[in-house]
Amino acid sequence: MSSPGDSDRSYTRLDLWFERVLGDRGSQHFGSGWFSGLIGLLLGAASFFAVLVFHFHEWLTVNELRSQYPVDLMRGLLTLAIIAAFFFSALNLLLRPSKRLGIAGIAFTCGAVILGGAGVEIEHDRQAPLHLGLDWLVLNVVLLSLVFVPLERLFPLKPEQGTFRPGWTTDGIYFAVSHVAVELLTFFTLLPATLVSQAWQAEALGVQAKSLPIAVQVLLIMIAADVTQYWVHRSFHRIRWAWPFHAIHHSSRNMDWLAGSRLHVVDTVITRGLILVPLFVIGFAEQALYIWLGIVAAQATFIHVNMKFRFRWLEHLLVTPRFHHWHHAVRPIDKNFAVHFPWIDRLFGTYYLPADGSWPPEVGIHGDPVPAEFGAQLIWPFK
Ligand SMILES: [Zn+2]
Ligand SMILES: [Zn+2]
Repeated sequence: MSSPGDSDRSYTRLDLWFERVLGDRGSQHFGSGWFSGLIGLLLGAASFFAVLVFHFHEWLTVNELRSQYPVDLMRGLLTLAIIAAFFFSALNLLLRPSKRLGIAGIAFTCGAVILGGAGVEIEHDRQAPLHLGLDWLVLNVVLLSLVFVPLERLFPLKPEQGTFRPGWTTDGIYFAVSHVAVELLTFFTLLPATLVSQAWQAEALGVQAKSLPIAVQVLLIMIAADVTQYWVHRSFHRIRWAWPFHAIHHSSRNMDWLAGSRLHVVDTVITRGLILVPLFVIGFAEQALYIWLGIVAAQATFIHVNMKFRFRWLEHLLVTPRFHHWHHAVRPIDKNFAVHFPWIDRLFGTYYLPADGSWPPEVGIHGDPVPAEFGAQLIWPFK
């Protein structure tokens, strides 16, 4: 198992700080108290931030979500999370010689209880000029890590990589920022599509598109979105000034469920902004667009996972982790640009998927030109 002590230069300062504060050299196998410590800390921290969301809901929830929440159910889930956080943290304290994770988990959980726990009153009439998606972040962190961390450890492609591999904090910051700033990002992402569709709406097409069954609309959206995405993505690889922005995404030397979050904000806004233009011009039903958004988010996370799955015939129909890992390969470059359908790459001559079922021996960019820290990556493409 690699660890920060192995003087790997790609560990960032923040990776090493977390290792100093929470890490220990103990076994990470089932029954060692490592998993229970992690789950306790995850649920403890999530509960703490969820209580903050309850207190300052007008500032810390996404507008679109706020009115949708079944508040009683959320209170129930928060109570369960607090109880589970105490239980798992206590289990860690019992099982493991090093108590750091358990103590941190208990501290967060106590904080959540002291601040009012699930009983915080909500005043619905309070308004704020700015909304941060802390609710969106907490929900996604808990859900995705509870699903993917165990899966990646049960079926690892690279077992030596581990959950806290070099650069995990950098990708964690990308994940946090893109969720917390979701309203701002959505605003800029919607801008080109809103402007273009106001100027030119293909009304006749829209009437026809909306009359199709939702499943068919979703399929059409996926095809239209992926063809646009293909060319925007390929341009980011080809155009000299654009590549540094997209190079950030390719700079990760370790693929896992978190690695897909590493996207420069300019890359995110331009790519997503342009994908939406044809969808808005045609005018699909809102419900179909929301379903597609869910599919994109799930597939974008899934295609980066550190999991060894063979999908056989499905590999030719849908983009799978092996297909996208080859997009991240150090060699060959400029292959597999699609994110939904591999046959789009076949159509345009950039398809690469060895029939022997092999995975790229190395991912990243030849020569490692991109800095490792989040802040440095933000300004690097402008230099
Ligand atoms: Zn790319
Ligand atoms: Zn990727």
